[in-house]
Amino acid sequence: MTRTTPPRPIAVTRVVPELAPLARTATRLHPRPGAPTAGDSSVGGPLLWPTGEPWPHCDGPHDLTVAVDDALADLRLRRLRAAVRGRRRTPAEQRALGRLASAVYPLTSPPTAPQYGSVAMLPVAQLYARDVPDLPAPAGTDLLQVLWCPFDHPPEAFMPRTALVWRSSAAVTRVLARPPEPSAVQYDGYLPEPCVLDPEQVTEYPNPLELGADLRERLRRADAWAAAGAAPDDPGAPVLESVYRGELSVAPGWKVGGWPQWGPTDPVARPCPACGTGMDPLLTIATFEWDAGTRSWIPNEAEAAAPSPHSGFDPRMPTKVQIASGYQQQLYVCPADPRHPHTELMQ
Ligand SMILES: [Zn+2]
Ligand SMILES: [Zn+2]
Repeated sequence: MTRTTPPRPIAVTRVVPELAPLARTATRLHPRPGAPTAGDSSVGGPLLWPTGEPWPHCDGPHDLTVAVDDALADLRLRRLRAAVRGRRRTPAEQRALGRLASAVYPLTSPPTAPQYGSVAMLPVAQLYARDVPDLPAPAGTDLLQVLWCPFDHPPEAFMPRTALVWRSSAAVTRVLARPPEPSAVQYDGYLPEPCVLDPEQVTEYPNPLELGADLRERLRRADAWAAAGAAPDDPGAPVLESVYRGELSVAPGWKVGGWPQWGPTDPVARPCPACGTGMDPLLTIATFEWDAGTRSWIPNEAEAAAPSPHSGFDPRMPTKVQIASGYQQQLYVCPADPRHPHTELMQ
């Protein structure tokens, strides 16, 4: 199966030709629930992790005064029950339900704070360079593995903390079968649902907040749009800019590379903590694949758009990841050396 982004409704370089040199490619990941293996690119799937290599853990600090939402097995059991509600279960689902139920019941006492001293991290994404053309894999590597600690990290960040591992898949001879897991996650949106990917390369232009005053002014002028044969019905300047922002500039959803989305804050400088070079967007971990303002990015494949009333499946949130009240967690990488420490930003 593939996912195809419809052509942009307007060729924005006909409205403002000076945008052309600012075009960047991004790879939309188009996650959808499935059963990825360690040999696949995935979100929330098993990692190609060598036996004998220590599994990443996070030592915090964690805010242990907040209630912890979910024991991991309990959360998985509830999700699977919702997914199979109202339909026949497959044998594999039946086995998984039994396994999870026996892990959850009888209910043990809730997880307590000391358990969170050192938290085993969860797989968030595994990306093979062969699948993701915009992946800046360092020489000698062809695989990026992203893990996170499913707790907030105040005061530094009220979101999970990520770890990145670049590796050569050919160097992994024996794969770790049962990696350690945290016993719980702080919020259920911090447990990514296993998803397979249908990567697709698209072209992006900067968020309006990253454009100079001149280009931004040009984008807000109805005559520029009319000259391109593309004046929307109500061509007020804010409308034109929101059309550009929502439909023509930055793709929504999980993606690699491209331009970052801005909104909760103005753009901020992102220097590499090791060498000071301006960092590039690496991975966008998104709550929503689209929203009301970005519906033109919904892929053509029909089933992507309709929520399922029984399962609670929302095609806008195939990974079930939620950052704050519906934001993105953006990971940045140093273009001079992708092994320099990465940075994170919530937008
Ligand atoms: Zn942590
Ligand atoms: Zn650097």
